[in-house]
Amino acid sequence: MVLIDFFARISYNLRMDIRFIGTGCFHTKRNNTSFIIGDKILFDCGFGIITKLHDVGIEPWDIETLIVSHFHPDHTGDLINFLFRREAYTKELFKSLKRLKRPLKIIGSVGLRAFIESYAELFKYNYPSIFDGVEIIEMRGGEARDFGEFKVSAFAVEHDSYDIADEALGFIFEQSGEKLGYSGDTALCENLTSNIKNADNWVIDTSHKKKKEGQVSHLDLVEVKEIAGEYPEKKFYAVHRRFEVEGNDGNLFFPNDGDIVSV
Ligand SMILES: [Zn+2]
Repeated sequence: MVLIDFFARISYNLRMDIRFIGTGCFHTKRNNTSFIIGDKILFDCGFGIITKLHDVGIEPWDIETLIVSHFHPDHTGDLINFLFRREAYTKELFKSLKRLKRPLKIIGSVGLRAFIESYAELFKYNYPSIFDGVEIIEMRGGEARDFGEFKVSAFAVEHDSYDIADEALGFIFEQSGEKLGYSGDTALCENLTSNIKNADNWVIDTSHKKKKEGQVSHLDLVEVKEIAGEYPEKKFYAVHRRFEVEGNDGNLFFPNDGDIVSV
């Protein structure tokens, strides 16, 4: 009995909790797509995310790593707010001398540093030290990095970024032997479909129910169902949704803002 409990605990520890802060995009009442792993690793930080994190008791100073898929405002709009709030808190900390600022890694595509710095430039005179303890890590599609506690593999996706990034990225995030894929925003493309097998479960752009002609930047439900159907052993969580679907469908799930799933 003790042995069974022991193994049950080990297998529980290997699971990964995903907390969905947002599952929508510009077009819906849902929060912009963002999710957090283990209360410390945040994926994307679009407009409104800081407030939504606050609502569930998580603040920027709790986050140790922020992973940015691309620079559209529904994925980055609160990034500067994130740094300012973290900075303001640190000032309070030094006043009370309770503890020191946690380092923060921000991981994204090549162009991330220029993007953040040009955004921050607008406000730097008020907050000269928002980059203290911040490490900006730029990755190219095809690159994998080992950060000790976790690994990140990036792959380039097809998404019209219209910005200073060379690439929009998807990621495979690996921690304690679990691999979670995140498509970022993408059209159906070879880099995505060839990577599906490389992660245990996926958070996947499902922007449309059925794409109309000219809608080429995202996946639709028809395409995502087909991908999910090919990999019945994996779970797929549909995000960036601009439509409402009730209920789950086999291994394809439709999480709501605030849901926590264990994979
Ligand atoms: Zn986008």
